[in-house]
Order: sequence, then structure tokens, then C-alpha cells
Amino acid sequence: MAVMRRCENCGRETPIYRLAGVILDGRIAEICPRCVSTEAERIEVPYAPRTDQGAIQPSTGREAW
Ligand SMILES: [Zn+2]
Repeated sequence: MAVMRRCENCGRETPIYRLAGVILDGRIAEICPRCVSTEAERIEVPYAPRTDQGAIQPSTGREAW
């Protein structure tokens, strides 16, 4: 059985192996893959090299759901 843990951003129960450890708003958080994509502009990933992001999308990334 997968160990479940809440995403620290959206609170969604997520298998722990799918959570990503990131720096979100300056603190370490474990968040689900969905938040990794939706909150990308708020996230600093300490261990992964940054892909070159020349133009950041102007969209908010926080859509109603
Ligand atoms: Zn989440």
C-alpha cells in the first residue's frame, strides 16, 4: 500500500512517492505533481538544474477549480 500524505499546497492526499520536495515561498514543502505544474513560478527546486525560462507565462497559474 502506498503511504499517503497531504500535499502542503492544496491538501490533496497523494502517494508519498509522487510528492516532490521543493522550496515554496521560501520554505521546504512536499507538494503533489499537480501543484508542481500549477505553482511552478512560486517554486524553487533546490536540486534540479533550472531549465532556461526566457519568457515566463503571464498567466497566474492559479485557476479556479
Ligand atoms: Zn497539491
